[in-house]
Amino acid sequence: MSTPLDAPAYPLRAFDVVTRRVEDVSSHFRRITFSGAALERFGVPGPTKDLRIKLLIPAAGQPLRRFGGPAGQLHHGWYQDWLRTDEPGRGFIRSYTVRAIRTAAQGPEIDIDFVLHSAGEGTSVTDGHSTADGHSGPGSEWAAGAAIGMDAVIIGPDVTAITGATAPGETGIRWEPRGTAHVLLVGDETAVPAISSILETLPANISGHAFLEVPDPEDFQSISTPSSVLITWLARATTDSPRGALLEAAVRSTMVPAGSTTAPVRNTNGRDTNGGDAYGGDTYAWVAAEAATVKALRRYLVDEAGLDPKRSEFRAYWSLGKAGSGANGTPIGLEAKGRQLSRTATAPPD
Ligand SMILES: Cc1cc2nc3c(=O)[nH]c(=O)nc-3n(C[C@H](O)[C@H](O)[C@H](O)COP(=O)(O)OP(=O)(O)OC[C@H]3O[C@@H](n4cnc5c(N)ncnc54)[C@H](O)[C@@H]3O)c2cc1C
Repeated sequence: MSTPLDAPAYPLRAFDVVTRRVEDVSSHFRRITFSGAALERFGVPGPTKDLRIKLLIPAAGQPLRRFGGPAGQLHHGWYQDWLRTDEPGRGFIRSYTVRAIRTAAQGPEIDIDFVLHSAGEGTSVTDGHSTADGHSGPGSEWAAGAAIGMDAVIIGPDVTAITGATAPGETGIRWEPRGTAHVLLVGDETAVPAISSILETLPANISGHAFLEVPDPEDFQSISTPSSVLITWLARATTDSPRGALLEAAVRSTMVPAGSTTAPVRNTNGRDTNGGDAYGGDTYAWVAAEAATVKALRRYLVDEAGLDPKRSEFRAYWSLGKAGSGANGTPIGLEAKGRQLSRTATAPPD
């Protein structure tokens, strides 16, 4: 597809990268560092916040295919191009968050924290690949088998193509508090990288809460933030809680329904869970987790606690029992058989 000469440059590009380091942060999180000269032009003008990238994952036994133009150039129809590629060579696309970006002595590097969701709780493999919960997928399997020197292709923002007219969403950033001083960050393990990166750059005048639900206390990580946001880690294993239940309880005890006089619940650190502040429509909520959890939290926060949905961000990062990142996913089995998604879809799944 040709691009009109006066059209703004497309902000995304395919980057050829190499796995430089593989580090287990905990039994459910694996940090993989990617490097490569192409990354010189990877990124956004400011902090990466919840910047999402796409990882191209080869199908089992297939080579990794390069993607885009000679230097990885993409255009608006890149996702359709990818969908038109024949199976099984096409492989898979999954979304991940840039946990860190740096210029090391050897060149630019980015870290991605992968959830190894085949590991641990909820795993019950009945058909060799998929069940309703906690089993593997191409992304998780790729990360579990990653070794130094492995090639990969990442689709992400090209900092040289971003102008003042580029909306943050076009680059893959969704965090947009629009001057709000009160924030509520809520996420399961897949959102830990995004919430950590956001918190690291939040300024001192921002207050609020961050609730992070992970499988096990061993998955708690230390996050430093200049802000006064209270960070609460919740582990499903501690209370044998179903997925999302701890997040919902924490949010309900913090964001009381509009007009309610319910006293704030004391947190384990002795502070009121709402910090004594009156929460209301000025709170910016950023919620990312499994689809059903996000749906339940959105219903509560918008319908009962009175948050303005237009000023908040609700993102399903994955869907239980479906393959693929995002809200819709694809029923298990279809993707592997090539009947995945609409071949006319213009936008890639989140
Ligand atoms: C914007 C965005 C940013 C994201 N950032 C990250 C990130 O930084 N790190 C990260 O690990 N994930 C992240 N995710 C989530 C990740 O894309 C999904 O978990 C994705 O489904 C993983 O692909 P997969 O190939 O491993 O599994 P799939 O093939 O998609 O799914 C296979 C099976 O595993 C289940 N499954 C998928 N993910 C999980 C999970 N986390 N826990 C338990 N079961 C699961 C599915 O329901 C399905 O039954 C992000 C998603 C989005 C939309």
